[in-house]
Amino acid sequence: MDILKKKILDEGKVLSESVLKVDSFLNHQIDPVLMKNIGEEFSARFKDAGITKIVTIESSGIAPATMTGLVMGVPVIFARKRRSLTLVDHLYSAEVHSFTKKETSEISISKDYINGDDVVLLMDDFLANGQAALGLVSIAEQAGAQIAGVGIVIEKGFQNGSSQLQERGIRVESLAIIKSLTDGKVNFK
Ligand code: 5GP
Repeated sequence: MDILKKKILDEGKVLSESVLKVDSFLNHQIDPVLMKNIGEEFSARFKDAGITKIVTIESSGIAPATMTGLVMGVPVIFARKRRSLTLVDHLYSAEVHSFTKKETSEISISKDYINGDDVVLLMDDFLANGQAALGLVSIAEQAGAQIAGVGIVIEKGFQNGSSQLQERGIRVESLAIIKSLTDGKVNFK
């Protein structure tokens, strides 16, 4: 997706050989026009998949997932990382180790919003080692939902998240795939 790649080249900051910062349009400030384009692209790629719901993780998955849900006309559910007073039981949960925060947390979704009749598109902002996506896969499996695929805004192709998902027979669609972040530069696949 050329507009996304241009944005990454213009505004992305390479923090190390494995971490890219995109706070100016995805992880802190959000570019709504770009998110709309992202929503249209995912909607086109999964148009024949019979998707009934989009499932993502708070917080950075919410903007691209919501725009995709708007274009597809389906609800968007985000897994919460902390249990709140209003989300205490009746949950599907999974443990996720965060690549950027280096900590393990439990993600949860209420059983009210996903069930065995659903065909879900799982989405996230980044795909690195696949832990967040695999947590969503586990939750969808617990609910008995069918997984149409995983939609990722930025995949770091030099990490193994995509192969882990594909080994399990899961379709992965990434809008920008980064080959390397060496010498402070973003190289796309
Ligand atoms: P994974 O679970 O695939 O190892 O990592 C994906 C999660 O970690 C995403 O939800 C994202 O928030 C975060 N993440 C992984 N790599 C990066 C990165 O290079 N930059 C940013 N901003 N977030 C990342």
